[in-house]
Amino acid sequence: MEPIQQNIEQVRSRIQSAVSNSGRTDEVILLAVSKTKPASLIREAWECGQRHFGENYLQEGVEKVTTLEDLSDIVWHFIGPLQSNKTRSVAEHFHWVHSVDRLKIARRLSDQRPEHLPPLNICLQVNISNEASKSGLLPEEVPVIAAEVMQLPNVQLRGLMAIPQPCDDPEQQRLPFCKMAQLLTQLQQQFPDRPLDTLSMGMSGDLEAAIMEGSTMVRVGTALFGARSYSNSDLNS
Ligand SMILES: *Cc1c(COP(=O)(O)O)cnc(C)c1O
Repeated sequence: MEPIQQNIEQVRSRIQSAVSNSGRTDEVILLAVSKTKPASLIREAWECGQRHFGENYLQEGVEKVTTLEDLSDIVWHFIGPLQSNKTRSVAEHFHWVHSVDRLKIARRLSDQRPEHLPPLNICLQVNISNEASKSGLLPEEVPVIAAEVMQLPNVQLRGLMAIPQPCDDPEQQRLPFCKMAQLLTQLQQQFPDRPLDTLSMGMSGDLEAAIMEGSTMVRVGTALFGARSYSNSDLNS
């Protein structure tokens, strides 16, 4: 068996165990984070049945989207920091954006979404560990920004995303994820008619904790594709 296929099966079984341990019956989507990895490896993963892929860097991501245009029903997620002068290309090439942390970014994505495409799915990124250096909305800002984003015609608000402060203790890992789940519940109550179905949280080192707290989409890089040439510490600055 190819290593990539083995890794996908391993991660899928970690997800399955966490789902059954938490007594859930719903599905958790595996988002394969392919930043810094070649298009050929993404193609292999696709051949193993993987469909959702996440990219952090715009130019690199757009190159892969274009190279892999022949792969049917592949779903591209932009998950990296997003500057407002880069929104057009994201709006044109991706199906999802997880890292929306300002109304201005959401407005531009909506304005720049090509007419022939369905609305762009977006998540609001939340600075759930309240780290001074990190991007993301503060939890208390979320309801107001969400209400504004819902007015935009060409984006569809699907939920919330977070990258909590790394932590090795599985019990401690659950705290920020629990806060995220509460925040999404609050939004769902405030906007019952909206498809707010997504909690994008959990990575290679904490996906079990995230699933225990209700994650619907885990973003996994290292456990699928191996180590990257640089660390996670600069991914969210
Ligand atoms: C790189 C990255 C991941 C994947 O992290 P791993 O620890 O390699 O699984 C998830 N989310 C975001 C936003 C990332 O930038």
